[in-house]
Amino acid sequence: MLISQIIRSKPQDGVITISPDATLADAAKLLAEKRIGAVVASEDGVKVAGILSERDIVREIAKRGADCLQDKVSSAMTRNVFGCSPDDKTDVALQTMTAKRFRHLPVMEDGKMIGLISIGDVVATKLSELELEKDALTGMIMGY
Ligand code: AMP
Repeated sequence: MLISQIIRSKPQDGVITISPDATLADAAKLLAEKRIGAVVASEDGVKVAGILSERDIVREIAKRGADCLQDKVSSAMTRNVFGCSPDDKTDVALQTMTAKRFRHLPVMEDGKMIGLISIGDVVATKLSELELEKDALTGMIMGY
């Protein structure tokens, strides 16, 4: 299965982004409202400036207390963002996320972000693939 197939199966309403100049309080509110675990920081919605995960906010609170919530997203985000291509296999994305220990990957095409996948998306895809394989094998064995 390819990343492009996951992207197509998700709601086509664009990737949720936040300005690097927004505050961590704004970011926490957005993550809670949208029920997501990370948000891409971007000025224009397509060029990736960084990624901010709920873990980054928790780390800052643990270090400096709630005062950090008035700091900018740019102060806590990860700037060296790993992405994937729509033509990559889902297994490769899963390997990257596992090896690098993060759960989100922007999907990039010609330097622009066209989607974002989470480890949950990839695992759900993998489970339905396994289910299909199981049904096919059961059918072969039982002679359906
Ligand atoms: P996550 O597991 O995705 O919630 O993120 C864990 C840590 O990895 C946080 O510090 C994120 O800023 C960072 N992170 C998340 N996704 C990526 C990515 N695609 N590339 C680089 N860093 C990331």
